[in-house]
Amino acid sequence: MLIGPQNSLSAEDLGARYREVRASIAAAAQLAHRNVDCVTLLAVSKGRSVGAIQELARLGVENFGENYLQEAEPKIAALAGMNLTWHFLGRLQANKTRVVAEHFAWAHGIDRLRIAERLAAQRPATAVALNVCVQVKLADVAGRSGVGAAEVAALASEVEALPRLRLRGLMCMLPEGLDAPRQRELFAGVRTLYDRLNRDGAQLDTLSMGMSSDFESAIAAGSTMVRIGTALFGTLARTDSPAQQS
Ligand SMILES: *Cc1c(COP(=O)(O)O)cnc(C)c1O
Repeated sequence: MLIGPQNSLSAEDLGARYREVRASIAAAAQLAHRNVDCVTLLAVSKGRSVGAIQELARLGVENFGENYLQEAEPKIAALAGMNLTWHFLGRLQANKTRVVAEHFAWAHGIDRLRIAERLAAQRPATAVALNVCVQVKLADVAGRSGVGAAEVAALASEVEALPRLRLRGLMCMLPEGLDAPRQRELFAGVRTLYDRLNRDGAQLDTLSMGMSSDFESAIAAGSTMVRIGTALFGTLARTDSPAQQS
């Protein structure tokens, strides 16, 4: 069965990659003296087929992340019977918040109050609270979205006060090409912010950190949710990915 982008990925390939990623997560957790059950695998399925998502779900993956709303909406609808948990990972524009509020369980990447307010207002009253993470902009890493370390606490407490949202934690994204010590240092900085918020009374349980190229460093620094695309599904050809549209 061929299920991948451009039909290049077989169910066997995907299964093998999945087992490899699982084993790497377990090894990283063990190295950090952490329980592997404390690290959730979020499969980043942007640009990937409904068939590939079904196959991973069959293997036991429950959490899937999407970046582009035009792509995500039909996929979520097609897989509605499977009881999957959908995470929005893209940059949120104010005029696109309704789709996220209505169709997703999580929004990572909250970086301003206005977006959180819109999500709170648009979350259907019949749905459980939308889980959200505040995105932290890493010092001296240019061009990334998120809030600076100094503003995280203020935004977190404003978000916590909103109805229909549940602040779960912090999220960050590293640039590619850093060596492992530098990755760990940057992730540890976010971990410190997270610990400080909890010490000051927040009830956060999620550190959304780590992608294909740095999840081992993220787990070493305390990540509880790794967002993995390429290592699971293979390299995403540029043409498979819809233009920035969310
Ligand atoms: C695409 C994406 C990922 C997955 O990246 P890979 O390097 O393919 O594992 C994780 N997080 C976010 C926010 C993304 O946009």
